Amino acid sequence: MSRTLCLCCQRHQKACICSFIADIANDIHLVVLQHPSEVSQTKGTVALLAKSLQSCQVVVGEDFDKEAPFLQMMQQYQPVLLYPGDKAQTLNQNVVRQLTSRDITKLDVKPLCLVILDGTWKKAYRMFMLSTKLQQLPQVCLPEYLANSGQYLIRKVAKKNALSSLEASCYALAMLEQIYDTTEQRADAQPITPEHAGIYQPLLDKFQQFNQFQLSFRPVNKSLKET
Ligand SMILES: [Zn+2]
Repeated sequence: MSRTLCLCCQRHQKACICSFIADIANDIHLVVLQHPSEVSQTKGTVALLAKSLQSCQVVVGEDFDKEAPFLQMMQQYQPVLLYPGDKAQTLNQNVVRQLTSRDITKLDVKPLCLVILDGTWKKAYRMFMLSTKLQQLPQVCLPEYLANSGQYLIRKVAKKNALSSLEASCYALAMLEQIYDTTEQRADAQPITPEHAGIYQPLLDKFQQFNQFQLSFRPVNKSLKET
């Protein structure tokens, strides 16, 4: 059997994800904090997400208080954590205004960046609890009509409100960018929905195809492990 790897995505050519990559010029930087056990997940969506967004950074770890790339990001940006914790505020215009006006009195207004945790619910919770710096970030969550719209058929999703990291990031970025971009106040700005997620829709469409592609492996390759 051929073991040739794709030079672009480093996967076996049979499992190459390159045809599902969309080129998205995101305004708000995305930081994915990835649990180490997610790195080798062949079904993980972060590889596709990171290859599609022009401004995206993946930091692997568990306790991020000690991770240099994370600390550097905290200096450079004004991070907002997408996490459905107790303090999470549902993303809407008022919340984004609050977030962006906090530093307005300072001369060096840092750009917003979105931080997401990539792992099972249990692992994401562990990452959150271990990293005190994460707990101090403002928390946001998606409105319910987006949070429950997941297309993710590959991994067992035990709970409602369980989007893939790719979908959650696309929806949150689309909402943040639309509200954040108050300078233009585009009259034609459509509300973000699962079918109309602005510049992220091409990636979400490709993701549906990606899901079908991954499912096609199922009967022949049962060795792919679920976590
Ligand atoms: Zn490839």
